[in-house]
Amino acid sequence: MKLILLGAPGAGKGTVAKQLTAIDGSVQISTGDILRGAVQAGTDLGKEAEAYMKRGDLVPDSLIMGIMEKRLQEPDCQKGFLLDGFPRTIPQAEALRDLLGKLSIKLDLAVNIDVPKDVILDRLCTRRTCSNSACQAIYNVKSNPPTQEGICDKCGSPVIQRDDETEEAISHRLATYNEKTAPLVGFYEKEGLLRTITGTSSDIVVNAIKDELGI
Ligand code: AMP
Repeated sequence: MKLILLGAPGAGKGTVAKQLTAIDGSVQISTGDILRGAVQAGTDLGKEAEAYMKRGDLVPDSLIMGIMEKRLQEPDCQKGFLLDGFPRTIPQAEALRDLLGKLSIKLDLAVNIDVPKDVILDRLCTRRTCSNSACQAIYNVKSNPPTQEGICDKCGSPVIQRDDETEEAISHRLATYNEKTAPLVGFYEKEGLLRTITGTSSDIVVNAIKDELGI
Protein backbone atom coordinates (compact mmCIF):
# COMPACT_ATOMS: atom_id res chain seq x y z
CA MET A 1 0.00 0.00 0.00
CA LYS A 2 1.10 3.57 -0.66
CA LEU A 3 -0.35 5.87 1.95
CA ILE A 4 0.16 9.28 3.46
CA LEU A 5 -0.75 9.42 7.15
CA LEU A 6 -1.92 12.89 8.14
CA GLY A 7 -2.85 14.03 11.63
CA ALA A 8 -1.63 16.22 14.47
CA PRO A 9 1.43 15.23 16.53
CA GLY A 10 0.19 12.52 18.90
CA ALA A 11 -2.67 11.40 16.63
CA GLY A 12 -1.11 7.94 16.43
CA LYS A 13 0.42 8.04 12.92
CA GLY A 14 3.51 6.08 13.99
CA THR A 15 1.55 3.39 15.82
CA VAL A 16 -0.85 2.95 12.91
CA ALA A 17 2.05 2.86 10.44
CA LYS A 18 3.81 0.13 12.44
CA GLN A 19 0.63 -1.99 12.48
CA LEU A 20 0.14 -1.50 8.72
CA THR A 21 3.72 -2.56 7.85
CA ALA A 22 2.92 -5.99 9.31
CA ILE A 23 0.12 -6.48 6.75
CA ASP A 24 2.00 -6.39 3.46
CA GLY A 25 5.62 -5.45 4.12
CA SER A 26 5.17 -1.78 3.17
CA VAL A 27 7.82 0.35 4.89
CA GLN A 28 7.16 3.08 7.43
CA ILE A 29 8.96 6.29 6.49
CA SER A 30 8.97 8.74 9.38
CA THR A 31 10.80 11.98 8.64
CA GLY A 32 10.84 12.66 12.42
CA ASP A 33 12.66 9.34 13.07
CA ILE A 34 15.11 10.02 10.20
CA LEU A 35 15.85 13.51 11.56
CA ARG A 36 16.26 12.31 15.17
CA GLY A 37 18.67 9.64 13.89
CA ALA A 38 20.67 12.31 12.05
CA VAL A 39 20.80 14.53 15.15
CA GLN A 40 22.03 11.63 17.27
CA ALA A 41 24.65 10.67 14.67
CA GLY A 42 25.80 14.31 14.45
CA THR A 43 25.60 14.43 10.63
CA ASP A 44 25.41 17.73 8.70
CA LEU A 45 21.67 17.15 8.27
CA GLY A 46 21.29 16.59 12.01
CA LYS A 47 23.26 19.71 12.85
CA GLU A 48 21.09 21.78 10.53
CA ALA A 49 17.81 20.31 11.77
CA GLU A 50 18.44 20.20 15.53
CA ALA A 51 17.55 23.76 16.54
CA TYR A 52 14.32 23.78 14.51
CA MET A 53 13.26 20.48 16.08
CA LYS A 54 14.03 21.54 19.66
CA ARG A 55 11.82 24.59 19.26
CA GLY A 56 9.01 22.57 17.68
CA ASP A 57 9.45 24.40 14.36
CA LEU A 58 9.40 22.67 11.00
CA VAL A 59 12.70 21.88 9.33
CA PRO A 60 13.02 23.73 5.96
CA ASP A 61 11.20 22.09 3.04
CA SER A 62 14.41 21.86 0.98
CA LEU A 63 16.09 19.63 3.60
CA ILE A 64 13.03 17.40 3.87
CA MET A 65 12.64 17.01 0.11
CA GLY A 66 16.33 16.10 -0.16
CA ILE A 67 15.74 13.27 2.32
CA MET A 68 12.53 12.06 0.68
CA GLU A 69 13.76 12.12 -2.91
CA LYS A 70 16.46 9.63 -1.95
CA ARG A 71 14.35 7.57 0.45
CA LEU A 72 11.46 6.96 -1.94
CA GLN A 73 13.85 5.56 -4.55
CA GLU A 74 15.32 2.94 -2.23
CA PRO A 75 14.39 -0.63 -3.22
CA ASP A 76 12.37 -1.41 -0.07
CA CYS A 77 9.78 1.19 -1.12
CA GLN A 78 8.72 -0.93 -4.08
CA LYS A 79 6.47 -3.05 -1.85
CA GLY A 80 4.75 0.11 -0.64
CA PHE A 81 5.25 2.86 1.94
CA LEU A 82 3.49 4.63 4.77
CA LEU A 83 4.50 8.26 4.97
CA ASP A 84 4.41 9.26 8.64
CA GLY A 85 4.92 12.97 9.31
CA PHE A 86 5.50 13.90 5.67
CA PRO A 87 4.34 15.99 3.87
CA ARG A 88 3.82 18.72 6.47
CA THR A 89 3.42 21.82 4.31
CA ILE A 90 1.67 22.62 1.03
CA PRO A 91 5.03 23.10 -0.78
CA GLN A 92 6.11 19.63 0.44
CA ALA A 93 2.82 18.14 -0.81
CA GLU A 94 3.28 19.81 -4.20
CA ALA A 95 6.90 18.64 -4.43
CA LEU A 96 5.82 15.12 -3.46
CA ARG A 97 3.15 15.12 -6.18
CA ASP A 98 5.80 16.10 -8.74
CA LEU A 99 8.29 13.54 -7.44
CA LEU A 100 5.76 10.68 -7.48
CA GLY A 101 4.71 11.70 -11.00
CA LYS A 102 8.34 11.56 -12.10
CA LEU A 103 8.76 8.11 -10.52
CA SER A 104 5.38 6.90 -11.92
CA ILE A 105 4.14 6.05 -8.43
CA LYS A 106 0.44 6.36 -7.62
CA LEU A 107 -0.75 6.97 -4.05
CA ASP A 108 -3.67 4.92 -2.73
CA LEU A 109 -4.90 7.33 -0.07
CA ALA A 110 -4.08 10.21 2.24
CA VAL A 111 -5.54 9.18 5.60
CA ASN A 112 -6.35 11.95 8.05
CA ILE A 113 -6.34 10.52 11.57
CA ASP A 114 -8.63 12.78 13.54
CA VAL A 115 -8.27 12.67 17.34
CA PRO A 116 -9.79 15.13 19.87
CA LYS A 117 -7.41 17.85 21.07
CA ASP A 118 -7.58 16.90 24.76
CA VAL A 119 -6.52 13.32 23.93
CA ILE A 120 -3.61 14.64 21.82
CA LEU A 121 -2.37 16.91 24.60
CA ASP A 122 -2.56 14.20 27.22
CA ARG A 123 -0.76 11.71 24.95
CA LEU A 124 2.08 14.07 24.07
CA CYS A 125 2.73 15.05 27.70
CA THR A 126 2.86 11.41 28.82
CA ARG A 127 4.68 9.95 25.79
CA ARG A 128 8.19 8.57 26.23
CA THR A 129 10.53 7.42 23.45
CA CYS A 130 13.47 5.03 23.32
CA SER A 131 16.64 7.11 23.01
CA ASN A 132 18.29 4.61 20.64
CA SER A 133 17.82 6.11 17.16
CA ALA A 134 17.69 2.65 15.58
CA CYS A 135 14.76 1.70 17.87
CA GLN A 136 12.69 4.78 18.84
CA ALA A 137 10.02 2.57 20.44
CA ILE A 138 7.15 4.59 21.87
CA TYR A 139 5.83 4.24 25.43
CA ASN A 140 3.31 6.09 27.56
CA VAL A 141 3.79 6.59 31.29
CA LYS A 142 0.07 6.02 31.90
CA SER A 143 -1.15 3.53 29.32
CA ASN A 144 1.95 1.68 28.12
CA PRO A 145 4.98 2.05 30.43
CA PRO A 146 8.13 -0.03 29.85
CA THR A 147 8.32 -3.11 32.10
CA GLN A 148 11.37 -1.68 33.90
CA GLU A 149 10.95 2.05 34.50
CA GLY A 150 13.04 4.14 32.09
CA ILE A 151 14.42 1.15 30.15
CA CYS A 152 13.28 0.12 26.67
CA ASP A 153 11.71 -3.39 26.58
CA LYS A 154 12.95 -3.90 23.02
CA CYS A 155 16.61 -2.83 23.15
CA GLY A 156 17.48 -1.96 26.77
CA SER A 157 18.37 1.70 26.03
CA PRO A 158 17.13 4.55 28.23
CA VAL A 159 13.57 5.70 27.56
CA ILE A 160 13.35 9.49 27.58
CA GLN A 161 11.01 12.42 27.15
CA ARG A 162 11.86 14.01 23.79
CA ASP A 163 13.33 17.54 23.82
CA ASP A 164 10.32 18.69 21.81
CA GLU A 165 7.84 17.15 24.26
CA THR A 166 8.09 19.82 26.93
CA GLU A 167 4.83 21.74 27.46
CA GLU A 168 6.20 24.80 25.64
CA ALA A 169 7.45 22.87 22.59
CA ILE A 170 4.24 20.82 22.42
CA SER A 171 2.02 23.90 22.26
CA HIS A 172 4.32 25.35 19.58
CA ARG A 173 4.18 22.11 17.57
CA LEU A 174 0.38 22.08 17.72
CA ALA A 175 0.19 25.73 16.60
CA THR A 176 2.60 24.92 13.74
CA TYR A 177 0.42 21.94 12.81
CA ASN A 178 -2.72 24.11 12.67
CA GLU A 179 -1.02 26.77 10.59
CA LYS A 180 1.12 24.75 8.19
CA THR A 181 -0.05 21.12 8.11
CA ALA A 182 -3.83 21.18 8.64
CA PRO A 183 -4.30 22.83 5.16
CA LEU A 184 -3.10 19.53 3.63
CA VAL A 185 -6.51 18.06 4.41
CA GLY A 186 -8.04 20.42 1.82
CA PHE A 187 -5.16 19.74 -0.59
CA TYR A 188 -5.74 15.97 -0.60
CA GLU A 189 -9.50 16.39 -0.65
CA LYS A 190 -9.10 18.28 -3.93
CA GLU A 191 -6.82 15.53 -5.21
CA GLY A 192 -9.60 13.01 -4.44
CA LEU A 193 -7.30 11.04 -2.12
CA LEU A 194 -8.51 12.05 1.34
CA ARG A 195 -10.17 9.77 3.89
CA THR A 196 -10.76 11.12 7.39
CA ILE A 197 -10.93 8.51 10.13
CA THR A 198 -11.98 9.58 13.61
CA GLY A 199 -10.78 7.30 16.36
CA THR A 200 -8.48 7.15 19.34
CA SER A 201 -7.71 3.44 19.00
CA SER A 202 -5.10 2.39 16.44
CA ASP A 203 -6.99 -0.88 15.84
CA ILE A 204 -10.08 1.05 14.73
CA VAL A 205 -8.01 3.26 12.42
CA VAL A 206 -6.13 0.27 10.94
CA ASN A 207 -9.38 -1.64 10.32
CA ALA A 208 -10.96 1.40 8.65
CA ILE A 209 -7.91 1.73 6.37
CA LYS A 210 -8.09 -1.99 5.50
CA ASP A 211 -11.79 -1.58 4.64
CA GLU A 212 -11.01 1.43 2.41
CA LEU A 213 -8.32 -0.54 0.58
CA GLY A 214 -10.43 -3.71 0.40
CA ILE A 215 -7.76 -5.86 2.11
P1 AMP B 1 7.64 14.01 14.41
O1 AMP B 1 8.40 12.90 15.04
O2 AMP B 1 6.97 13.62 13.13
O3 AMP B 1 6.68 14.69 15.38
O4 AMP B 1 8.71 15.12 13.98
C1 AMP B 1 9.55 15.74 14.96
C2 AMP B 1 10.08 17.04 14.40
O5 AMP B 1 10.87 16.79 13.23
C3 AMP B 1 9.05 18.05 13.95
O6 AMP B 1 8.54 18.82 15.03
C4 AMP B 1 9.86 18.89 12.96
O7 AMP B 1 10.75 19.75 13.62
C5 AMP B 1 10.69 17.82 12.27
N1 AMP B 1 9.98 17.25 11.08
C6 AMP B 1 9.57 15.96 10.92
N2 AMP B 1 8.99 15.80 9.72
C7 AMP B 1 9.03 17.01 9.10
C8 AMP B 1 8.57 17.49 7.84
N3 AMP B 1 7.94 16.70 6.97
N4 AMP B 1 8.79 18.81 7.56
C9 AMP B 1 9.43 19.63 8.41
N5 AMP B 1 9.87 19.24 9.62
C10 AMP B 1 9.68 17.93 9.97
